[in-house]
Amino acid sequence: MSTRSIGLDDSLYRYLLTVSLREPDLFARLRQATENMPEAGMQISPEQGQFMQLLVKLIGARKTLEIGTFTGYSALAVASVLPEDGKLVACDVSETFTSVGQPFWKEAGVAGKIDLRIGPAVDSLDSLLANGQEASYDFAFIDADKTNYASYYERCLKLVRPGGLIAIDNVLWGGSVVNEDDNSDDTRAIRALNAVLKEDTRVDLSLVPIGDGLTLARKCT
Ligand code: CA
Repeated sequence: MSTRSIGLDDSLYRYLLTVSLREPDLFARLRQATENMPEAGMQISPEQGQFMQLLVKLIGARKTLEIGTFTGYSALAVASVLPEDGKLVACDVSETFTSVGQPFWKEAGVAGKIDLRIGPAVDSLDSLLANGQEASYDFAFIDADKTNYASYYERCLKLVRPGGLIAIDNVLWGGSVVNEDDNSDDTRAIRALNAVLKEDTRVDLSLVPIGDGLTLARKCT
């Protein structure tokens, strides 16, 4: 027993998956379609996908945002639990990556819920704001280029409603956040945002050590 979060070695991680992961075969096939790509580490883990599904259901989300879609696993997970009239605006710069996921979205019957916007996500989010979408989203998932995290966060905070939830991925960055020798742009950007979030009274906060670290920020009223 301990008063701190437990570490997961391989066997305990396997146990966690064995007793809790309910991943549909289609989802596993999308992971398999991604696993041999050099960038495969950018995909969220299946238990994180299931966790995000639970969050989306808990808050009754209907309108959702995703910044960084990659091959579409998180979009598949979130869109699958949205109501029939639910929407996911999925922002990514890559046609190549997102095209891997699109057949799986179709097969799952959720393609109609996903509005894929190819291009810089800051532009896509600014265009939503310009179109009067402020405070209309229930949930946002930020998982794109780390140097723009602060820009994505500020825009998502405008776009989600009071009580809405922003989930920010990779906030522990493989442990690099505590490596004093690592001062790469990505690492510094993540450290900086983590520090800002700690003091940001606009949100309720929890950093959940699932996957590579997932910060949950709930917009206060
Ligand atoms: Ca990620």
